[in-house]
Amino acid sequence: MVILAHPDDPEFFLGGTIAEWVKQGHEVSYLLLTMGQRGVSPQFPDPNNLEKVREKEQRNAAAKLGVGKVDFLDYQDGYLVPDIEARRKVTREIRRTRPDIVATFDPLLIYQTGLINHPDHRAAGQIVIDAIFPAVGNSAFFPEFLDEGLPPHQVEELWLSRPVEANFELDVSHNWQLRLDALLEHVSQVGEPAAFLEQMEARRRTRWGEERRYVESFRRLIL
Ligand SMILES: [Zn+2]
Repeated sequence: MVILAHPDDPEFFLGGTIAEWVKQGHEVSYLLLTMGQRGVSPQFPDPNNLEKVREKEQRNAAAKLGVGKVDFLDYQDGYLVPDIEARRKVTREIRRTRPDIVATFDPLLIYQTGLINHPDHRAAGQIVIDAIFPAVGNSAFFPEFLDEGLPPHQVEELWLSRPVEANFELDVSHNWQLRLDALLEHVSQVGEPAAFLEQMEARRRTRWGEERRYVESFRRLIL
């Protein structure tokens, strides 16, 4: 179960890993906490219209990777905060889906060289971690969920994307093209496709030279 802040986060940050999980026969689902309304551009200037556009783009991108289940919560892009109501809503979704592994963002990443992490990414990570422990596994938290037929559940592993300190990496070079194909479904976000692909290749060269590798890193917690 991949729980992140915005449409396009799954493919940008762990698209190679998601593709790998699907190829290995795992059932993968997404929960995006916002609709990405503020990812506006000259072609898509209206946040209200963008909501529907981005929902459709996210479903198409997920389908490219073989992910069939995509759900959204109705938080406003840019305004996500780790409060009790958000923890409650995420707890409910995790108890519904009952995943073995949850992937989210590392909430400890505030900034790194040359960039500031989006506050929604940090908030999403904290909401998910706070939901998994102790609320998802403890019947005394949000007891009304028992009436909804949602008993406690134990998540086995937590994978934190964009970790401050990675302890696990997955070489998903062979999924590079598939990930790009999925990213290109986010038409409102990638701009001109050829320029976008060139930018992605340039980033890859900066990181791995001419080796044509692509690796996704995580902080992986066995719970
Ligand atoms: Zn994002």
